[in-house]
Amino acid sequence: MLETTKHQTQQQTTESVINTDALKSGACQSDVEAGIVNRWSVDEIVALFELPFSDLMHQAQTIHRANFDPNAVQVSTLLSIKTGGCSEDCGYCPQAARYHTEVENEPLMKLDDVLAAAQEAKDNGASRFCMGAAWRGPKQRDLEPVLKMIQEVKAMGLETCATLGMLKEGQAEQLKEAGLDYYNHNLDTAPEFYGDVITTRTYQDRLDTLGRVRNADIHVCSGGIIGMGESRNQRAGLLAQLANMEQPPESVPINLLTQVEGTPLHGTEELDPIEFVRTIAAARITMPNSFVRLSAGRQSMHEGIQALCFLAGANSIFYGEKLLTTGNPEAATDKKLFAKLGINKI
Ligand code: SF4
Repeated sequence: MLETTKHQTQQQTTESVINTDALKSGACQSDVEAGIVNRWSVDEIVALFELPFSDLMHQAQTIHRANFDPNAVQVSTLLSIKTGGCSEDCGYCPQAARYHTEVENEPLMKLDDVLAAAQEAKDNGASRFCMGAAWRGPKQRDLEPVLKMIQEVKAMGLETCATLGMLKEGQAEQLKEAGLDYYNHNLDTAPEFYGDVITTRTYQDRLDTLGRVRNADIHVCSGGIIGMGESRNQRAGLLAQLANMEQPPESVPINLLTQVEGTPLHGTEELDPIEFVRTIAAARITMPNSFVRLSAGRQSMHEGIQALCFLAGANSIFYGEKLLTTGNPEAATDKKLFAKLGINKI
């Protein structure tokens, strides 16, 4: 019995290596274009999760080194330009108007304040500045001031990113025209678990927005949240959705649920930190060319776990004190951790 399990594990490891090697080599372009080579089944990704930890880390680190500088981490800063009062019902989010949290409904920030925050981010070493608004999606009158923010932040020499909710036809093109480099819109979780977390928009709505972003030639930033009570299969299911996109997202934020009192997901059983590291490793293996971002939840993470996440292939973080409305390690703490690990900022 033990032998069978061992044999299966070895076989799974070999299959995974073949699959990822094919991905890395890019040798069979027609297969890639047909979406054949870079298809991952949920079972294959579950098999990665089930590898002995050292084998999984070795595979993830090998793939990471083949595609990226292993000691370089991209740094983004996120600013909430419109906080609270959101009409959606995302079960993890303190900005949803329907949940009783300490987050207040605030108006859209003024341009000068946004630019001052962008300058501070740049001075702290960020290369990308992300602007987030708590909307179901932007109305045209909302979008116009944001377009101006994007133009001005871009003119400061920063890469620009926005997360504004669902986009309608034509809006992605306006964002592109303004100079937007990345648009963030997370899939959040696997399709089968999605309805347990959000009911006010569908999975397909999210895919449609991502399609509009891709068609407008804006880089896609899309990932999810781990630790919402989903199963390992569903964690793998989220990664399969992302990895099997015709072109996987350039940036894949993997968030650990930050539990906020007053939201429906407050009180969810905490995820084992090693399972989080395994998720990062599986994301790296299945999306070898994407930046995998260690996002929300870092504040509660011991630096040893963060180090394991970098070893597993995470190569992007959010820098700064706040992530939209929840805490994030202070920039100075991150600088110390980077120095300790010999990590350079991109
Ligand atoms: S995650 Fe975004 S869309 Fe969902 S409730 Fe929060 S602000 Fe609104």
